[in-house]
Amino acid sequence: MRFEDLNIVAPILKALKEEKYEEPTSIQQKAIPLVLNRNDVLGSAQTGTGKTAAFAIPILQHLFTDRRENNNSRQIHALILTPTRELAIQIGESFTTYGKYTGNKNTVIFGGVSQGAQINALRKGVEVLVATPGRLLDLMDQGHINLKDIKYFVLDEADRMLDMGFIHDIRKIIAKLPVKRQSLFFSATMPKNIVELSRKILKNPEKVEVSPVSSTAETIQQYLYYTNRSTKNDLLFHILQDQKLDQVLVFAKTKHGADKIVRNLKKKKIHSAAIHGDKAQNQRQKALTQFKDGEIRVLVATDIAARGIDIDKLKYVINYDIPNVAETYVHRIGRSGRAGEEGTAISICEPEENAFIKDIEKLINQKIQLVGENPFPQTDKPMTDSEKKEWEKEKKQRKKEFFAARDKKQNRPHSSKNRGKRR
Ligand code: AMP
Repeated sequence: MRFEDLNIVAPILKALKEEKYEEPTSIQQKAIPLVLNRNDVLGSAQTGTGKTAAFAIPILQHLFTDRRENNNSRQIHALILTPTRELAIQIGESFTTYGKYTGNKNTVIFGGVSQGAQINALRKGVEVLVATPGRLLDLMDQGHINLKDIKYFVLDEADRMLDMGFIHDIRKIIAKLPVKRQSLFFSATMPKNIVELSRKILKNPEKVEVSPVSSTAETIQQYLYYTNRSTKNDLLFHILQDQKLDQVLVFAKTKHGADKIVRNLKKKKIHSAAIHGDKAQNQRQKALTQFKDGEIRVLVATDIAARGIDIDKLKYVINYDIPNVAETYVHRIGRSGRAGEEGTAISICEPEENAFIKDIEKLINQKIQLVGENPFPQTDKPMTDSEKKEWEKEKKQRKKEFFAARDKKQNRPHSSKNRGKRR
């Protein structure tokens, strides 16, 4: 099938051609005709399947044809709600790209940066608003945004939205939307609470589904190293000796962990940067751009920061930490091998994470291939529960001692409030 077969208007076809999109992906083939037909859609698809274009293209087409009848392009007619800033920026870029020749105006709003520029953009008038829930509500409360003219509403990555605790925000936002509208709802997984939420938003939806979460992994080559916690860094460095791994996205469990990995890689002269929630928005954007431009070889990210990051032609993902939720593993490795490209995912597992690998293998219904040549094999045993307790106690004690010693050195009273404060 070609995009021409989907009744897409010429200005959008021209933009797609320039993007070198040859044929619509499966979700696009299914969803575009339904959205053009003004159906509500319940889409089960994850990032990497081309779902952004699956909603952006038909919405742009509606706006383009609506505008011919009613010349007002300065009101917000489409709202795309998405969980993270990175995803919001990428969706905004997609609207700009596909809508290059339709005269569409969009803007993106998200938290963590000052409101000024976003308010200015809104004042000039936009047709498409891409937003994260918190900032949208803030600007609505301050009277900068009114949703009364919304005709098209997209809730993107609904499962992540709920995971991130946005349910109340979403309810508040939906309550302000006009009843007469077209709604599209996308989620990678469809547990009960998501289906319930979709019922509140959609009217007689058509369902479309691509690659259920457990089968996406089949297209990605997956390898596994068992090692000890103390040798993870050495093993990562050993893996990166292979120059075939030209650009790698490394996943870390925590922000602190991500920074530590970058520090170690830098010591080994490997160009790298970390992105996570404690980094300022411009730092995150800079790291992402440098990675996309090939100036950085290794980008280390936490799950939330990496959500929705779209790096064309990324082939390698390394799980420095194994996620304790099996679905997260599938989301992570799905960052490689996007839009049908080949991908490779390498996981580094320490004893405490052995059980997570079992869960993952159960979900993906396959055994991850063990790498035979491993200079740092796992020798430690997972800690027993009582050892873990002991270890946690010890860690707490060491932390207490560290802060007490620091406070003493800086001549200030030791209190838990001072913890972590830098001067
Ligand atoms: P998404 O699932 O929306 O995050 O899209 C994943 C990637 O696929 C993005 O880099 C898109 O630019 C790309 N993409 C989307 N649709 C197509 C298509 N029909 N042909 C080639 N690439 C596409």
